[in-house]
Amino acid sequence: MKLQTIAKLCCPFDKHDLKLKILAQDLEKNVQEGLLSCPNCLRVYPIVYGVPIMAPDEYRQTALEQPVIDRWKLEYGIEPLNLLPG
Ligand SMILES: [Zn+2]
Repeated sequence: MKLQTIAKLCCPFDKHDLKLKILAQDLEKNVQEGLLSCPNCLRVYPIVYGVPIMAPDEYRQTALEQPVIDRWKLEYGIEPLNLLPG
């Protein structure tokens, strides 16, 4: 996903601007893996294979997202995090 496109994304929950943490980019600098986080509601949206996972809470499958986060903890040394607040 292109950086300019990511900059236009907002939180699906509260429409707040998102913070981007880039973990992996391809040769064209597109973000392949990363984390979008909302400073307002504290939700975290992973970018997996260049695609941001930005479904509303009721459609999120944290059981599928969590293994990716666990791998990133090992690979990139990211802090432990909750995908959803609370
Ligand atoms: Zn939010």
